[in-house]
Amino acid sequence: MLDATQELTTFDLFNPTEEHRMLREMVRDFVRSEVEPQAEEYNREEKFNTALHRRCGELGLHGCTVSEDDGGSGMDPLASVIIHEELSWSDPGFALAYLAHSILFVNNFYFNSNDEQRARILPQVLSGEWLGGMGMTEPGAGTDVLAMTTSAVRDGDIYRLNGRKIWITNGGYDSETLGDVFLIYAKVGEKISSFVVEKGMPGFALGQKFADKLGMRSSMTFELVLENCEVPVANRLGEEGDSKIHMMRNLEIERVTLAAMSLGMAMRCLEVMVDYANQREAFGVPIRQHGQIQHYIANAYAQYKAARIYVYDTARRMRLTETNQRVDADGVKLVAAAMGKSVADAAIQVLGGNGYIAEYVVERMWRDAKLIEIGGGTLEAHEKNITKDLSRDASWITRGA
Ligand SMILES: Cc1cc2nc3c(=O)[nH]c(=O)nc-3n(C[C@H](O)[C@H](O)[C@H](O)COP(=O)(O)OP(=O)(O)OC[C@H]3O[C@@H](n4cnc5c(N)ncnc54)[C@H](O)[C@@H]3O)c2cc1C
Repeated sequence: MLDATQELTTFDLFNPTEEHRMLREMVRDFVRSEVEPQAEEYNREEKFNTALHRRCGELGLHGCTVSEDDGGSGMDPLASVIIHEELSWSDPGFALAYLAHSILFVNNFYFNSNDEQRARILPQVLSGEWLGGMGMTEPGAGTDVLAMTTSAVRDGDIYRLNGRKIWITNGGYDSETLGDVFLIYAKVGEKISSFVVEKGMPGFALGQKFADKLGMRSSMTFELVLENCEVPVANRLGEEGDSKIHMMRNLEIERVTLAAMSLGMAMRCLEVMVDYANQREAFGVPIRQHGQIQHYIANAYAQYKAARIYVYDTARRMRLTETNQRVDADGVKLVAAAMGKSVADAAIQVLGGNGYIAEYVVERMWRDAKLIEIGGGTLEAHEKNITKDLSRDASWITRGA
C-alpha cells in the first residue's frame, strides 16, 4: 500500500527533482551576484544588457526546453518556471527579454523546425550570440490576433513578406541595432504560416522604439517593418498554412512563464515588506504589530502562496508538444497577474514613503507587475478563453493529476 505520509513529506512541488533544486540554486546565485547589481541602472536608463544575455547562454539557460541532443538542457516547463521566477525576483524587465528569446523564439522554433533549420539557427541562439524574438501583434491585431494582415506571397525560392509587427520585445538591442532573428507570423492566403526572419534579409527593418514604458524598462520594445522582405522558403517553419496551432501551443508556455514572473516579483515584495515591518517603528512598536499592516502582509502571503501552487501544478502537467493546458495556462496568468500587482501595491503601502522611491525596489516591481495583465494576452482574453473552455468541457473543474 502507498505510504501516503511519506509521499506528502518528501514531495516538493516547487523543486520536484534534484535537477530542479540544483537549477534553482544555480539561477539564484547568478541572480544575486550578476543580475541584481545591474538591475536598477539598466531599468532607470532603459537599456538592454547584452552581456547578461550572453551569460544566460553560457549558463545553458536559453535552451532550457531544448533536448540535450540538440545542444539544450533538456528540461521541462517547470524548470522554465523556476528560471523566470528567480530572474524576476531581481529584474523582471530582463526576465521579459529572456522570455522573448528563450520561449517566444527558441522554444517555438525548436518544436516546429526541421533538422536543417535547427543545425543552422540553434547554436547562435542557445549561446546568446544572437538575440531572438517573436512577432505576432500588429497595429490592427492584438487580442484579435487572427485578424493579422501581414502577408507572405511565394515567389520561387522565396516568400515576400509585407506588414508591420508592433510591441516586439527584443526587436532591437537599441534604436540603431535590430535584433538578430525573429519568428514572424504571416498569412499565406487566409492561413497563418511562420517564418524565421533574420537581420540582413532584404526589406527587413527596425521601426519605432516604444520608449518610456511604465515598466519592464530593461527590455527593449520595437516595431518591426517588413517591406517586400525576402525570406527563403527554407526559413518557413512546418508546412505552409499550418502555424495557427504552433501559435496556440506556444501561448500556453508563454502564459505560464509570465505567471512565474509575477511569482518572482511577489516573492521579492514580500521579503522587503516583512523585513521593513520588523525594522520600522511607529507609536513605540514595530509596525508589524499594527493590525492593518498585518492585513497587508498576511493577505499578500496567502495570495502569493495560492498562486504559486497553481502555477507549479500547471507547469508540471504541461507537455510542450501538445496543447493540453490551455484553460489553466490562461487561469494561472489571470490569477498570478492580479496577485503580483496586489502584492506589490501592499508592499508600497507597508513601506509608506520609502515604498515610493527606487531604493527599496518595490515601486519598480509595482510598475513591472502591470505588464503581466496585458502581454501574452489580456485579462479579458483569459476570462473569455477560460469560460469558453469550461463551457465545452466542464470536467476541468474536477480533474485530478
Ligand atoms: C511591453 C510589451 C511587450 C510585448 N511583447 C510582445 C512581443 O514580443 N511579441 C508580440 O507579438 N506582442 C507583444 N506584445 C503585445 C501584447 O501581446 C498585446 O499588447 C496584447 O496582446 C494586447 O493587444 P493590444 O495591445 O492590441 O490591445 P487590444 O487588443 O486593442 O485590447 C484593448 C483592450 O480591449 C480589450 N478587448 C479586446 N478584445 C476584446 C474582447 N473580445 N472582449 C473583451 N475585451 C476585449 C482588451 O482586453 C484590452 O483591455 C507586447 C506588449 C507589451 C506592452
